[in-house]
Amino acid sequence: MKPRSKFPLIVLSFVGAVVLASCSGSDDSSPGGAATVEGAKLSVAAAFYPIEEIVRAVAGGSVDVLGLTPPGDGAHDLELTASQVTSLEAADIVFYIGDGFQPGVEKVLSSLPSSIVQVDLLEGLTVLDVVAQLEGTEGETDGEVLASGKDPHVWLDPANMAKMTRSVASVLSSTEGLDTEAIAAAADAYVAQLETLGAEFDAGLANCQSRVLVTSHRAFEYLAQRADLQQVAIAGVNPEEEPSAKSLQAIAEFAAANSVSTIFFETLLPADLANTIAEEIGATSDLLDPIEGFSQEDLDAGASYIVAQRSNLERLRQGLKCS
Ligand SMILES: [Zn+2]
Repeated sequence: MKPRSKFPLIVLSFVGAVVLASCSGSDDSSPGGAATVEGAKLSVAAAFYPIEEIVRAVAGGSVDVLGLTPPGDGAHDLELTASQVTSLEAADIVFYIGDGFQPGVEKVLSSLPSSIVQVDLLEGLTVLDVVAQLEGTEGETDGEVLASGKDPHVWLDPANMAKMTRSVASVLSSTEGLDTEAIAAAADAYVAQLETLGAEFDAGLANCQSRVLVTSHRAFEYLAQRADLQQVAIAGVNPEEEPSAKSLQAIAEFAAANSVSTIFFETLLPADLANTIAEEIGATSDLLDPIEGFSQEDLDAGASYIVAQRSNLERLRQGLKCS
């Protein structure tokens, strides 16, 4: 089926039954595809954005979704407020990523009553080692590793998003009060969109002049392995700090030796820093979104995992000169 962002689907739900009835099938992927059988809605907590999108896609209209990471906040360093803890204590199910990815969340989870079902979505996934950064640059710009020392950014491979969707669907469909068939259909529809996205990455990054992905945020190893790219996360190039001459030299040498023409950052660089790097190493800079969360403004404008990944793919294709 044709993948699309959630935004038009949300709009559709307000347009009314007549318009909906005239649409050509496949509305199962819309939030609310699964209907409650009866009674009060279950409260399902999602620890940060990609998980929240999965829960909404699978059962959005039939459960109350409690997103723990507020729009615009970082996932890794989240500390729950007292009122969030109270809401969490009243939840029925919590989906999260464990192994120390969000220590502030896990600390609260460990004190919840055992009646609340807790599901660590890392289970069932292959979690990758952290790959060494570029030698000759200084320090860490991204200290995000799991307690086991592994890389938490599993969601950036659409295949892992699909596996997590299956895990969420499996837990929700065995939960009393939810419509098993509607959940299965909604999960199938969302997984189909993720599989289409994955195929777009495979085709779009098959033929590129460079296969080296230079990033400032070491978040893209799952995507790099899928696409057979080498991710090199450079330290010493941080939007908040001027890189040292030594770092710039190491990056420049690496860039020259590996046909690197674009360095990818997580956030927009200050113009002077971008210019410094461009002048020193002859590369340009662009953005990649690690999709750890969206601002409220982005969400209101229809931001979604799939839309953000398509944008990442376009930027990668341009930066790596893919045909
Ligand atoms: Zn990260």
